[in-house]
Amino acid sequence: MSGLPLPDRTITEVAEALRSGETTSRELTDACLERIDHHAERLNTFLAIEADAARRAADEADAALKRGDGDGRSLLGIPYALKDIFVTRATDEEGQALPGGLPTTAGSRILAGFRSPYASSAQERLEAAGAILIGKTNCDEFAMGSSNENSAFGPVHNPWDETTVPGGSSGGSAAAVASGQALFALGTDTGGSIRQPASLTGTVGMKPTYGRVSRYGMVAFASSLDQCGPLAHSVRDVALVLGALAGHDPRDSTSVDTPVPDYLAALTGEVRGLRLGVPREYFVAGMEPGVESAVRAGVETLRGLGAEIVDVSLPSTDRGLATYYIIAPAEASANLARYDGVRYGLSAGADELWDNYERTRGTGFGDEVKRRVMLGTYALSAGYYDAYYVKAQQVRTLIKAEFDDVLTGVDAILAPTSPTVAFKIGAKVDDPLAMYLNDACTLPVNIAGLPGISVPCGLSDGLPVGLQVIGRAFDEATVLRVADAYERAAGFADLRPALAAV
Ligand code: GLN
Repeated sequence: MSGLPLPDRTITEVAEALRSGETTSRELTDACLERIDHHAERLNTFLAIEADAARRAADEADAALKRGDGDGRSLLGIPYALKDIFVTRATDEEGQALPGGLPTTAGSRILAGFRSPYASSAQERLEAAGAILIGKTNCDEFAMGSSNENSAFGPVHNPWDETTVPGGSSGGSAAAVASGQALFALGTDTGGSIRQPASLTGTVGMKPTYGRVSRYGMVAFASSLDQCGPLAHSVRDVALVLGALAGHDPRDSTSVDTPVPDYLAALTGEVRGLRLGVPREYFVAGMEPGVESAVRAGVETLRGLGAEIVDVSLPSTDRGLATYYIIAPAEASANLARYDGVRYGLSAGADELWDNYERTRGTGFGDEVKRRVMLGTYALSAGYYDAYYVKAQQVRTLIKAEFDDVLTGVDAILAPTSPTVAFKIGAKVDDPLAMYLNDACTLPVNIAGLPGISVPCGLSDGLPVGLQVIGRAFDEATVLRVADAYERAAGFADLRPALAAV
């Protein structure tokens, strides 16, 4: 076992220690809660914590481990966190608050105090696998952002350098894992929100193929792009969690009924014979030299392992941003119409209905959300629908076709995850376009619905850089295999931030 403290170890290592009796789930959970005590407030990682329920669940896991009846539960006794985009059951059938039930805010004032009457599929599946929910993590409001500065509950700080952002929108999840406040966390990724914060915090984060994991119980941002996935310390851990999450769910009509392979079995450590494409358009202007050299060194590591590296072209890559910023806001404007001050959370309490809508939405939504709703309604309005929305859908088809074409000739694609390392808090808040450019390398993958992972490939200026591996639809196995082989060879698996002394 690695010499790292308990909460910094991988699930794989800790699960072994739990089985052998070397540690207990209670000890592990307490170690994470202690990290939360020391760092959560300063880093602003959590919006809600359920310490007592987590300790109780840990004791139950320990009892099961002792009895030896934990078999088949792949995450038994492992503490994790959920981005506050996933609903967690917090009321009974009569609408009465359940003790220990956690609120769901989506990082928005408009949902402050909202308690869900049902749980998300993701939470149910992780619970069935024995994982222990420790709390809900901070995020950009309705998952709109790349820096976690759009949360109504304040920004998250990157544990690598607390004056910088952890990325977004799953920044709370990424920072919580990076600082050992949970062994893994779930994020959601509409345009890069799992992979980009993973890149900026030195963690591994994966967005599965659209349809691979149920979206049931995820607060919707852009429904044709949203997909949830894990952030963890290693590729193997991500494979383990994905195995627990993946599979058909009749409650999500876009979830696909296709067999889920054994992702751990895919981690052979072998990439010999694989063809890996490097798209020239992904080394974009504005990319930091330190990021480029770390990513290119990552490509060379894979070449050294016997993969065949192929130069490929995805010519419509630079259309991705414009396409995304029509489609995502259009869908968001429709999805967010439900926050009307009547059904959920905040209500301005005005006497007249329209007045109440306007005041609730005017005070409940933050600036970025309002910007998206305006962009989206504009793009969908009668005079502009064909010029913007229909055009964006056409370009979407083109982007997908280019990926499909390239992926018939190569087994996976290698690219940077983010063009920069973590930037200073406040540096881009007044320049939406500069902020949007953070996702230039990730959002085409959502547009095409493909699986992508970010794995640490070193440091630049002392801050983590991520290598992105993109695969064919429903071929998470190859993506994980490449990322795992890279991780084993590259020697960055034990990278952890030096946490402030307390
Ligand atoms: N940063 C992108 C946006 O603001 C992507 C967000 C996400 O993936 N949820 O829309």
